[in-house]
Amino acid sequence: MRKSLMIIPIFIVMVIMIVGAKTTVEKPEPQEVKLNGKVLCLAEEMKTRYNVDLDDEHQHLYGFKTTKDKYFTLLHTSLSKALFVDKRLHEKDLLIVGRVFPNTHLLEVLRFMSIVDGVVHELYYFCDTCYIRTVAPGNCDCCQAPVVLMERPLNTDSLIPSP
Ligand SMILES: [Zn+2]
Ligand SMILES: [Zn+2]
Repeated sequence: MRKSLMIIPIFIVMVIMIVGAKTTVEKPEPQEVKLNGKVLCLAEEMKTRYNVDLDDEHQHLYGFKTTKDKYFTLLHTSLSKALFVDKRLHEKDLLIVGRVFPNTHLLEVLRFMSIVDGVVHELYYFCDTCYIRTVAPGNCDCCQAPVVLMERPLNTDSLIPSP
């Protein structure tokens, strides 16, 4: 009787080990991407392309349309916030570095830049009173004045510190 009771916990540990090993093997990794395109409302795009009966008062579903006509849904993170709230960025030709998750077209933005006349520009927000740089619009953390959108060629020397 005692012997069989001792076997049970060993059996449970073995099952956990096998199940655990299996899930780590089968979990696919996110794919790192660098995409060129524009931010748009995917819902409106589908309405235009496929006659979706979209409510005019819908909540915008922001995504990214690449130059190769691929669509990705943007995940709302601190690094992508500007792409949702700053409409000026929707007019720009953008370069997004990020991750796409397995079996989805969900795009996590890690970095975004613009392309102006074929030259990559960095985009950021800046308070020229405090010399502080941020990734999203809003008020400066320090002096509360609104930060300004900056667009500068990526490879020029900048005195402005990176965030
Ligand atoms: Zn919309
Ligand atoms: Zn400031």
